[in-house]
Amino acid sequence: MAELGNPRETIKILQKHEFHFRKKFGQNFLIDPHVLDKIIDAADVGPDDFVLEIGPGIGTMTQYLCERADRVLAVEIDAKLIPILQETLAGYDNVEIIHGDILKQDIWQIADRYNGGKPVKVVANLPYYITTPILMELFESRVPLANVTVMVQKEVAERMQAEPGTKDYGALSLAIQYYAIPYLAANVPPNCFMPRPNVGSAVVRLDCRDRAPVEVADEKLMFRLIRASFNQRRKTLQNGIGNGGLGFSKEEAAHAIEAVGLPTDIRGEKLGLKEFAALADELMMLHRAP
Ligand code: SAM
Repeated sequence: MAELGNPRETIKILQKHEFHFRKKFGQNFLIDPHVLDKIIDAADVGPDDFVLEIGPGIGTMTQYLCERADRVLAVEIDAKLIPILQETLAGYDNVEIIHGDILKQDIWQIADRYNGGKPVKVVANLPYYITTPILMELFESRVPLANVTVMVQKEVAERMQAEPGTKDYGALSLAIQYYAIPYLAANVPPNCFMPRPNVGSAVVRLDCRDRAPVEVADEKLMFRLIRASFNQRRKTLQNGIGNGGLGFSKEEAAHAIEAVGLPTDIRGEKLGLKEFAALADELMMLHRAP
């Protein structure tokens, strides 16, 4: 069985199967053993763990996971990679491969079936074209998660960790920080992948929260407010909410902003989760009032 994680073995496997990279699937395979070790260490994978891997590619990281975890389930969308995975993972009896789109899987069923409903660890060198939808699907499904360790675009890693008032701060920062605590585990340059992406990358571990850091009556409304505020970044919060198609007038927005003790000319980028939660509660009461 080929030990992957270096350019030579990767090229050999790819040539043998006449595999051609498909840009539309965000295929940039890892070819650096140090980075692979760093990801597995960051994910804190141990012998009792069940790990869900998203997008195993030719199975490079999957081999590392199989060595450390109790069981691994890998979901890969590209049919051409399935026979390759069957070959590169033939030496492991603790791995299962599903051919499919991760966004169409029933993650609850996976957690239940493979891990008895216990919190799952997710590890992935994510396809960059759907980083946010995959993470949001995982978190919003409310499936029990221990941590999610992912390779993402460096710029996305920065946005995940950003604080209010900084240039990287936005809807993604608030969404990620609502569900998890992000840690930057490593910066990864383009030459660690084949083919090389034209952006820098970073490994981020997201430690999933047991409880949300703020209480809010209508979580969905809070996230709609957040999106409306950052969709129109240069506008004041009042205009963002008033013109955001949320069913609130500018006057109602101004009233709610004042009621939570903020100036009406404030911009959304200054608000943290606590303020957005208070604002969502206030606006909900406005529409409930007789
Ligand atoms: N894990 C491998 C590695 O590190 O070398 C490959 C990572 S590559 C950045 C992303 C992988 O995700 C590719 O194998 C790609 O085919 C797969 N992929 C893309 N979209 C997917 C989806 N919606 N569901 C499952 N896998 C997907």
